[in-house]
This record gives sequence, C-alpha cells and structure tokens, in this order.
Amino acid sequence: MSFCCFCFNAAETSEHLFLVCPEIWNIWSWLSDGIHFQLDLSSAQALLVSGQSRRSGYVQMLMISAKLHCFWCIWVEQNNQKFQSKASSIQSIICKITAEVHLSSNILVGHGSHSMADYRVTQLFHCPSRLSQPLSFIAVSWFPPHNAQIKANIDGSSFGLPPSTFIGGDSQNQGRSQILNIGGTKS
Ligand SMILES: [Zn+2]
Repeated sequence: MSFCCFCFNAAETSEHLFLVCPEIWNIWSWLSDGIHFQLDLSSAQALLVSGQSRRSGYVQMLMISAKLHCFWCIWVEQNNQKFQSKASSIQSIICKITAEVHLSSNILVGHGSHSMADYRVTQLFHCPSRLSQPLSFIAVSWFPPHNAQIKANIDGSSFGLPPSTFIGGDSQNQGRSQILNIGGTKS
C-alpha cells in the first residue's frame, strides 16, 4: 500500500484519501463553512445525507452535486499528482468544484425556497435561487427616541392557512443601548 500523495503521512486508503486527509479536509471545511453546516465526515454514506434536510428539492440536488464533484475532483487531483506529477492548489480545486456545480445546476429541476439554508448554497455556487415567488422588500428607517423615552419597533408576518406567524422586536434607548430583544413563532 502506498502513502497518501497529498499529506505523505498516512496509508492511501479510500477513507483517508476522500475524508480524513488533513489536506483534503480543507475542501470539506470550505463546503461546511459555505453552507453554515458542519458536514458529517464519519463515512461517505453519512456525508451524502448530511445537511440535506430543511432544504428545497432543487437545493438538495445542488448539495448532492457539490459532494459528488468534491469526490470527483479529489480523485482527478490524486491521479494528476501520481501519474502526471501535476499538483493543483486547494484553492484551484475549490474553483473547479464551484464551476462544475454551477454548470450542473442547469440540468436540475424544481424550485428553491426563501430559507437561509437554501440561500447559502445557491450563493456559494453562484446558482439562481429559482424562487417560485419573487422576494419583495419594504424599506424602513429608524430614528432614535427623544431623551428619557423608549422606542419599540416590532415587525410581524403571517403565511398560509391556518397562518404560521412570526413576531420580533428590538427596543433601544437614546444611547442606542439595547433594552429588550424579543422574537417568537406560532403556528
Ligand atoms: Zn493524506
């Protein structure tokens, strides 16, 4: 059995090459950081299902595409280093993964959602959000209260029947120090 061509510090098993090698770990760390979710690297099977829940069908497929392209690019890099003596930086491998996942989004079907979990994935790979309903924004301004007064700003939203609601608020005094922060959901 030969040594890992990335770290030269361990036997070249599949588990080490794709999941454990500290050099390759930088790729999974980049993906975990980008989607704000710590991926489970205990096995390939665990990795494939890790971070899939709470995302739309479209973004779940994007995530699968990302993981498979990570595996593929690690394999290609290993072959390049072993048989052609050509080494790429981790950053250039990540750029290649990003480009491949972006390209793969063209053949994916379905819609995305307004969730942050979806947003982070589509932003990481520069893919369209594919929202079934476009986002709408309401511009608001905040002015500090007069002396010895407290100002409370509260927003709320309601979706669906029966409605699922959210309310949140933030209270500040004249010095803009926070007095109270509230938030909660009810469905
Ligand atoms: Zn290694």
